[in-house]
Amino acid sequence: MSEQRPWLVLFDADHIKEYVFATGRLKEIRGGSLTVERLTRRGTIEKHIQGTPGARLIYASGAAGKVRFAAEEEARAFQVWLEENYRRETVTGSLTSVRVPYVETFQETAKQGEKGLRRAKDARLGLAVYAPDGHGRWTLDGRRSAYQPASGPFSRYCQSCGGQPATTPYARGRRSEWLCAACAQKRRTVDRLRRKMRGDGDERLALEDDEYFGRPFLAFLQQEQPERWAAWRQAAFPQDLGALGHTSQPDNYLGFVYADGDRIGELLKGMKSEEDYQLVSTFLDEATREAAYAALGRHFRPVGGVSDADLAPFEVAMIGGDDLILLVAAHRALEVAVTFSREFSRRFAALSAAEGRDWQAAASVGVVLAHASQPILYLEQRAGELLKLAKKGRGDEAAVDYLVVASPTLNPVRRIRRQVYEHQDLHEKLYRTRRPYTLSELEWLLNQARKLKYGEAEGR
Ligand SMILES: [Zn+2]
Repeated sequence: MSEQRPWLVLFDADHIKEYVFATGRLKEIRGGSLTVERLTRRGTIEKHIQGTPGARLIYASGAAGKVRFAAEEEARAFQVWLEENYRRETVTGSLTSVRVPYVETFQETAKQGEKGLRRAKDARLGLAVYAPDGHGRWTLDGRRSAYQPASGPFSRYCQSCGGQPATTPYARGRRSEWLCAACAQKRRTVDRLRRKMRGDGDERLALEDDEYFGRPFLAFLQQEQPERWAAWRQAAFPQDLGALGHTSQPDNYLGFVYADGDRIGELLKGMKSEEDYQLVSTFLDEATREAAYAALGRHFRPVGGVSDADLAPFEVAMIGGDDLILLVAAHRALEVAVTFSREFSRRFAALSAAEGRDWQAAASVGVVLAHASQPILYLEQRAGELLKLAKKGRGDEAAVDYLVVASPTLNPVRRIRRQVYEHQDLHEKLYRTRRPYTLSELEWLLNQARKLKYGEAEGR
């Protein structure tokens, strides 16, 4: 018998941010993010391929991954399971996967696979056009027009997203709503985590009940910042964006922090063996998580709530791979951005060195500071643009770009800046020459701002 060639399956979830931020409600953001993570993470994939001889998970993080199979038939069956499971559980989400036969080297196989995956995603995403619906929300236009809901006296739309037909009653305390299957699923994902329901209508999730971020964050603090750990043990995540806004000084502002690694595609392309690819992916994921824990632990304290529990002045909207999206109290958002970026590089290099590799990586950050009532998907889009500007801005150095948004507008960042600075020559020059900021420039600025505010530099 001739030797069979192994096959490589590559997968990547589609338009995750639109799925996660569809409604702009904190609970559904968290539920959506947890759903994506649960369906694509390491443990889920490993459990599924357990009984398949020759199957090997190379990596799975940030809703993407690579898995090797001994034969094409098994690779195909895995793709069908993964895509169907993802679609069924998320209801409105989708995941793209491709399979390629192994060629001489892993590096070349991965390269061909990535090309195929990009093509498959482009073809699929071409159908999905997101557009503002005029009420501050984004909807998936292609889907909505393709879907013909039964109209009549007994049909209605989801009270949360407004874009899908309502199918499920959802009651919490005295409040009751009709939701679509996708929104109901997101909320129940969070409900399942909460070991004990608090009082009537209390929607808070204790850090200790959250195995995805809260518990690892507490474990990290206990290890690395033990003097701060105790204060966090009783804390809960804010129940909604309003509560998060109230942890900010001034009141009602939040920071949308969007970070990811610079030129990670190039770094991964340079990996010659499957083992190195696996190592570097694991290090990126670990460095991202630990840098986020370190930054949040250093710059925030739990804030005393009106009722029993202390609140974390942040929510983790997405974390994994080399991606991070945080919603935080506005007054420390820029400090969190700088510390995250510094810690990411440091930790990634340290993890690599411990395995005898000299890999380096940096992460840039886009930050939007805005009133807590602004549509969250709008903030996500502006932060994404700022992240791109930060990456372009300062050559090889990691950078941070940010924007204070006074009122919601659909204009892109470049136009907002032109309008704001049109008649202010000084600022015009300043932003042209200085933005985006390198980490040390921004640290210097933040330090000057603190001196102005307190009359002296704050001791750390
Ligand atoms: Zn809905």
